[in-house]
Amino acid sequence: MTKRIVALAGDGIGPEIMTSALEILAVASKGKFAYEVVSFPFGGAAIEQVGIPLPQETLMACQQADAILLGAIGGPRWEGVKETPESGLLALRQALKLYANLRPTKMQTFLEEKSPLKADKVRGTDFVIVRELIGGLYFGQPKYYDSDEAIDTMNYTRKQIEQIVRLAFELALTRRQKLTSVDKANVLANSKLWRQIVQEVSEEYPSVEVEHIYVDAAAMKLMMAAPTFDVIVTENLFGDILSDQASVITGSLGLLASASLSIDGPALYEPIHGSAPDIAGLNIANPVSMILSVCMMLRQSFQQIALADQIETATYETIAATGGTRDLGGQLMTSEFKQELIKRLE
Ligand code: ATP
Ligand code: MG
Repeated sequence: MTKRIVALAGDGIGPEIMTSALEILAVASKGKFAYEVVSFPFGGAAIEQVGIPLPQETLMACQQADAILLGAIGGPRWEGVKETPESGLLALRQALKLYANLRPTKMQTFLEEKSPLKADKVRGTDFVIVRELIGGLYFGQPKYYDSDEAIDTMNYTRKQIEQIVRLAFELALTRRQKLTSVDKANVLANSKLWRQIVQEVSEEYPSVEVEHIYVDAAAMKLMMAAPTFDVIVTENLFGDILSDQASVITGSLGLLASASLSIDGPALYEPIHGSAPDIAGLNIANPVSMILSVCMMLRQSFQQIALADQIETATYETIAATGGTRDLGGQLMTSEFKQELIKRLE
């Protein structure tokens, strides 16, 4: 059966990196994997076209897709509008029940010197942060502020915690069988329940080594001992902060991809960076983050492991051989990098 991929190119560098990544997928998958791509407006691009960031037609297409690729959204042009591009993304996450955000951080030896950390502190780093994405402080009610007081509510149900924790254990089984659960159980009631549930679920996964760590200690350990982590699981806000912190380890935003998995529908794959309006349209963006997002999609949604491995290997080989785009200190334009990679795939 032909798989249906919905592409939401979005704003800024989104369209450039999406075009490159889809061309690469087309070349690499020839005769191996049958799919079709349909594109829909989303974010600022949709505001321009139809006045709102998440048109009904786009949402319906996403709900009926086998997987969704997102470029990037937002930019100065839409700051202060009533419905921002970012509010469209939050609405999409909720509508698709994208409860788990996965962000892998993997250090490539030839990129060690790009890291702001010392090479011996990052060598061999290979972990995934699993962040709960549709609960906690972001969505808890009541939530309001006036000029004298503000309230946010943090709440998680057992079901929500079990769901994300189980996913993290399953992921650990496919990797180095180590799970780090990050919480603040010395202070927060939510974290006390979280820790209790991690302990309960861990009994179903006796082969997985479990470590509990407070979020403040986790922040330090990420900088001091990144290679010791395998799978890190945490709630929404802690995950937001730690995953941005983790993104500096490899030295370039342009290399990092993410997956957001749904409870019962299609998953969404996107680079972790924003729309980079400062370099949009200049043909200098690094398309690797989008290409690796495509690889995550091939593995997670379509079980096309060999195809994903082939694209990923060729991508790293191309960076090593050419120096890559400017953000990596290389000379290649976006389109040149794509051409070099296609040569390797053919
Ligand atoms: P957001 O708020 O949407 O996360 P941001 O303000 O964090 O956005 P980004 O858009 O992620 O910012 O960009 C941060 C910096 O990294 C910018 O200077 C941008 O040009 C650069 N950058 C981001 N992605 C890439 C990429 N794929 N290739 C090259 N440079 C990039
Ligand atoms: Mg950002």
